[in-house]
Amino acid sequence: MNNFININGDCWLINANYVDVINGSVKEKKNIRINDGVISEIRDSLPENEGDVVDCSNVYLTPGLIDMHVHITWDGGNAPVRTMLEEGNYVAAIRGLANAQDSMKKGVTTIREVGSPDDTAIDISNAIRRGIVKGPNMIPAGRIIQCTGGHVPEVGIIADTSDEIMKAIRYLKAKGAAWIKVAATGGAYGPEEIGPVLYTQEELALIVKESHRLNMKVAAHALSEVGIRNCIDAGIDTIEHGAHIEEESLKKMVEKGLALIPTLSVYQCLAESKGILPQNIVDKAVMVVGQQKKTFKKAVELGVRIALGTDAGSPNYGPHPSVYKEMLAMHEYGMIAADVIRCATINAAQLLNNHSIGVIEEGRAADMVALKANPLEDLEAFGDIVFVLKDGNLV
Ligand SMILES: [Zn+2]
Repeated sequence: MNNFININGDCWLINANYVDVINGSVKEKKNIRINDGVISEIRDSLPENEGDVVDCSNVYLTPGLIDMHVHITWDGGNAPVRTMLEEGNYVAAIRGLANAQDSMKKGVTTIREVGSPDDTAIDISNAIRRGIVKGPNMIPAGRIIQCTGGHVPEVGIIADTSDEIMKAIRYLKAKGAAWIKVAATGGAYGPEEIGPVLYTQEELALIVKESHRLNMKVAAHALSEVGIRNCIDAGIDTIEHGAHIEEESLKKMVEKGLALIPTLSVYQCLAESKGILPQNIVDKAVMVVGQQKKTFKKAVELGVRIALGTDAGSPNYGPHPSVYKEMLAMHEYGMIAADVIRCATINAAQLLNNHSIGVIEEGRAADMVALKANPLEDLEAFGDIVFVLKDGNLV
């Protein structure tokens, strides 16, 4: 592996096989030039002037992976919220940075963070952006807007009235949030019931209107049927988890261009945590898994926009990142490998309005993952990463 040590933002990757996520195929024996962290040229002929050259004939390159649903400050142990409260917010921020860096080493070069204590993900994101520390691209939401009796209030801003909701959105915007995350229904992790709803359709519509006015999209934690329907009617940009969604609502999502971030593997994991996690969490998760299997398949059939999100950091889910587990779950629930890879790359990039990531093509950032095997033939290839590039630099 020593020959990769020289990758430092300017080089040629020669004889490369890379996954063209747009066409769902592998482009073979291409030569990729990286300048200042950007893919500046892709061509068939070898470079005349050697310079820094890395032979990639033994690997398959994919775009850097994007995880749309992460709790970066949580540890994925049996009680991540208790650990977070015991450690305090400063340690949570340090832990979050360590998790972000571990994620990047394992191929996740972009993270949308959807719930951290005291908005610490915004600070982690700032530290990375300012070049103080290395890390993935982070798109932070800060704390989750939720009502009294909501879902994981330890990482929430409580907002019950219209005025409080508006104030919370404006506060997060001023602090540096890039997205707004709202808890539209209860969840599996917590004492509350899943449904029917925490916020009304009118309140959700207000959240969407004010967030969009301030150039932020909205992600909603939504598990109950009526809660999800309210989110869709309100125009929530990404429905997180989305247990039971009727066909009519899925069709509405297609019409409106709204996306589903299904987070399948975390609920599989919670459902299998009998004796490890409180029984009420396990029971709620078992129900969610049954509903997600049907909903996901139908959403794929109907052509709903889907992007990959994991809920990394959640209880008993294991260390960051969790993308590999989620890819296998999406495939198991009926999605072909090429589409799973799209969900973790170009689909996510489009939802983030970021046209410089998600695809290996000229003009995009040189964020790439090198695998030993062809992931289009078997997604388990993502379990065997040879190296990762972030902005052309070896991670
Ligand atoms: Zn979550």
